[in-house]
Amino acid sequence: MHQNSKPFEIIVLGPPVSGKGTQARLISVTFDIPHISAGQILHTIKADANHPLAQEVAQYMDRGSLVPDELVNNLVLERIKQDDCQYGYVLDGYPRTLEQAEVIDGAADLDYVFLINVSDEVVIERISGRRVCKNGHTWHLKYSPTKAEGVCDTCGESLFQRDDDKEEVVRVRLETFHKNTQPIIDFYEKEGVLIKINGEQHIEQVFQEAVRYLVYDLRNKTIK
Ligand code: AMP
Repeated sequence: MHQNSKPFEIIVLGPPVSGKGTQARLISVTFDIPHISAGQILHTIKADANHPLAQEVAQYMDRGSLVPDELVNNLVLERIKQDDCQYGYVLDGYPRTLEQAEVIDGAADLDYVFLINVSDEVVIERISGRRVCKNGHTWHLKYSPTKAEGVCDTCGESLFQRDDDKEEVVRVRLETFHKNTQPIIDFYEKEGVLIKINGEQHIEQVFQEAVRYLVYDLRNKTIK
């Protein structure tokens, strides 16, 4: 029997609003492995005025650009060495560049890379229908409409569309995603660890597809 002491070294990739964060969280809870979000690690550092990297990280994040590979790689590699990662982890928002993909591939024995596939048109529909109030409550014109049009059900404030949710901006974000992610997808496809999941289904169905794959693969590895 193939012995893998860390059977759950998992990466979840996907475009904005593909639900990859949700899927990573569900996988984390189900298999009792840490959900490691690169964005969250960086947000925490940025918010800690005493952290030696706070200013450097803020410089990039405030401009919306990627934090340099070397810095992010060190943070993620440190994190996955911690005790709670003894059976694995699920990475979300990392890797975002081919260099990051190569570094994590050299440092870890990756078992599964899930790509939550959502077409550009669906991403645009999901984002451009989003409406928020000034208190951050989020609604969707089609998927979670408020009772009264333009008014937040939770606090009664008026709803508006965030500038970065406008279609022209979303198209630019998508272009950046494809440019950066396609080489990563190609890389993992070649390594034979990429699993494409249809992200245009309900959250539960996307999750079931991922779990079915995991259970099937683990069974095959165990019962030989
Ligand atoms: P997120 O919360 O995932 O949208 O990430 C917020 C910000 O953190 C991004 O806009 C980047 O500035 C930075 N960031 C998150 N993940 C990475 C990564 N893997 N590589 C470089 N920068 C990242």
